[in-house]
Amino acid sequence: MIKKRIAILGSTGSIGTQALDVIAQHPDRYEVETLTAHRNVSLLARQALRFQPNAVVIADDSKYGELKALLADQPIKVYAGSKALCEVVQLPGADVVVSALVGIAGLRPTICAVEAKKQVALANKETLVVAGDLICRLAQRSGAAIIPVDSEHSAIFQCLAGECSPVEKIYLTASGGPFLHASANDLRRATKEQALRHPQWSMGDKVTIDSASMMNKGFEVIEARWLFDLKPTQMEVLVHPQSVVHSMVQFADGSIKAQLGAPDMRIPIGYALSFPERLALSVSRLSFAETPALTFQKPDTEKFRCLALAYEALRMGGNAACAVNAANEVAVSAFLHGKITFPDIARLVEVGLQKNDFIAQPTLEDYLKTDERIRRIAEEMR
Ligand code: NDP
Repeated sequence: MIKKRIAILGSTGSIGTQALDVIAQHPDRYEVETLTAHRNVSLLARQALRFQPNAVVIADDSKYGELKALLADQPIKVYAGSKALCEVVQLPGADVVVSALVGIAGLRPTICAVEAKKQVALANKETLVVAGDLICRLAQRSGAAIIPVDSEHSAIFQCLAGECSPVEKIYLTASGGPFLHASANDLRRATKEQALRHPQWSMGDKVTIDSASMMNKGFEVIEARWLFDLKPTQMEVLVHPQSVVHSMVQFADGSIKAQLGAPDMRIPIGYALSFPERLALSVSRLSFAETPALTFQKPDTEKFRCLALAYEALRMGGNAACAVNAANEVAVSAFLHGKITFPDIARLVEVGLQKNDFIAQPTLEDYLKTDERIRRIAEEMR
């Protein structure tokens, strides 16, 4: 069997390490072409020693010397800086690029991978939130396939396999996060530790806070709009605290297909790497007998303002979601550093949306300028 060569952008993160775990379970099918990190030199070096990639990139170039020294006796190319992220995904060696950076940092490297006609296993949802129209246009032009890694979108993708009829609507499920039953008062006093205690998933800090505010679900609605070409009215969010049904698709005959499984990201990562086949994976199996009743309810968009703001940005189109993302990145970082309260996240996102100079059909430069301007405003207003 010809092995697929995999480049992982963000290999030291939650998705990146789980992607390596999937690869380690199938050494007969996959080889690692590239691994990248932002600052975590020691983990990147350990991963490189184990998986022997062709190249590694450390995005923070002040860490280059340290990484180079750790890999001195290895036949592994060592690069540094964010430009190198773009360059390595365009090299002919990689068949699949796992886009698992966090935030808008993933935008340019993902664009480079799409332009280079790579198959992109996309975890970095902010890329589609910020510039979904641009990415989809580029993918259409180059013929690059974008396979979702986000569990909800992977579920929808899996439900659509073999279907040729149009989708009537989709149901995106949400765990509800750690504050599902919190009062407004609880939210005002919420600590970073409480917000980072997700009831079902173990993920990086940024996406965990986004889950607590339900901004994550808002972003996923926007992501689904681009991945599956849907209107806002065709997408409904349902709070499903058990996180067993990962999402559902409803067709014109009233049939609904769902994808279920244990909440383990290695399942959608594995599917994105092996599509259209399925890999044998040693992950825990869902036990129906031991699973309590599956429940579904509408989200409270007054309590979780970020979800309502994401829908607003989706309806507005243009660079509105880019502004929401920029304000949210500043707000989440400020919350994690103890500088603002949890409800301030939604306040800053709302400011970002209000202060945005609307552009109906933005270019990449417009998106980058929007991001820079709204970040500045959100920093001033926090
Ligand atoms: P993590 O924070 O765990 O990992 C992020 C990775 O990106 C790390 O390798 C980090 O390097 C690197 N990185 C961070 N900032 C930069 C930067 N500015 N330049 C270059 N590299 C950078 O994130 P997750 O793995 O949790 O999430 C990745 C993406 O996947 C996000 O968009 C998230 O929304 C999405 N996602 C995640 C899920 C999960 O279960 N974790 C589920 C569904 C979607 P370093 O380690 O050196 O800091």
